[in-house]
Amino acid sequence: MTVVPRPSILAVEPYVGGESKIPGVNRIVKLSSNEGPFGPPPGAIEAIRAMAAEAHRYPDGGAKAIREAIGARFGLDPARIVVGNGSDELLALLILAYGGEGTELVMSAHGFLMYEITGLWAGCRIIKVPEKNLTTDVDGMLAAVGPRTRLVFLANPNNPTGSILPQSEVERLRLGLRDDILLVLDSAYAEYVTRPDYDAGAKLVDSSSTTVMTRTFSKIFGMGGMRLGWCYAPAPVIDVLSRVRGPFNVNAAAMAAGVAALAEKGWIEKSVAHNTEWRGKVTDALTAAGIKVWPSEGNFLLVDFGTGAKAKAADDAMKQRGLIVRAMGGYGLPQCLRITIGTAEECTMVIEALTAFVRHG
Ligand SMILES: *Cc1c(COP(=O)(O)O)cnc(C)c1O
Repeated sequence: MTVVPRPSILAVEPYVGGESKIPGVNRIVKLSSNEGPFGPPPGAIEAIRAMAAEAHRYPDGGAKAIREAIGARFGLDPARIVVGNGSDELLALLILAYGGEGTELVMSAHGFLMYEITGLWAGCRIIKVPEKNLTTDVDGMLAAVGPRTRLVFLANPNNPTGSILPQSEVERLRLGLRDDILLVLDSAYAEYVTRPDYDAGAKLVDSSSTTVMTRTFSKIFGMGGMRLGWCYAPAPVIDVLSRVRGPFNVNAAAMAAGVAALAEKGWIEKSVAHNTEWRGKVTDALTAAGIKVWPSEGNFLLVDFGTGAKAKAADDAMKQRGLIVRAMGGYGLPQCLRITIGTAEECTMVIEALTAFVRHG
């Protein structure tokens, strides 16, 4: 006899995060997890330090200060914001609350892997919809919906492809879904988007009672290690999340750091300006070297080497220079590598490494 988990658990392949070490290489440049090139905002570092002396106190389970700060920054009602231990936690709570055995979860073929991993845990059948030009196909998504579908996930911009759907397409997706289907708009990279017509999701959350937007402090705010995410949702979904989340699901240091990060003057502007500049420079340089780069609205690039063997060789060549990027086999894109936009120096290293790789193998 032995203990046995629910059968759906054994269908789950553990998430493999970005690597951070190369044996025998001292100086590592980690560009595998889209962490942001500047570290956490200085005010956030100070806030974390200050919280250390208060570590014996339980955090505010109602997360009042951080919800109010988020609400003020993004013009949203704090009563309709829930924070999570990273947005991953909120995605998981939503899937476990609305999905489960006998239900289906619809996502695009190269959508963010956590939807599939957590969906399988919950017991959902996962339906992956083929993409067009590495972009979510709204017609395909709608056609894939069946009577058992309860959850549809869209990362916009999407990780790892970097592609984005225009607001009109996101609206068409929502309008084509029944009202017993929760549409989760994962906007982890929202702050990086510079298109004027982009809405991170709040509009649809307000106009339909069945849409949720998730956001994170892990990318533009450089706080992945603190685990802080949030969602903006209709009141009934807020009610559900309040029932299922742990009472102290976000720690005190993370919340204090989040408040300070939001107050950091010019942080988003500086980060976006750097990202837009270097995303363009790396794209142009690699394209000039004859390497295909997919257009990206995020803080990363999906670089396409044509074959899995070539991508592996490029990965090895970069590793020799201490550059760690993300292999994409798990996303069904073995011919590609995903490379985070780092500092100017790190981006230059990527350009040099891949240019040399193309010339000399
Ligand atoms: C990074 C990422 C997340 C997870 O963010 P956390 O808040 O760190 O859990 C969610 N969705 C997408 C698309 C991401 O790239």
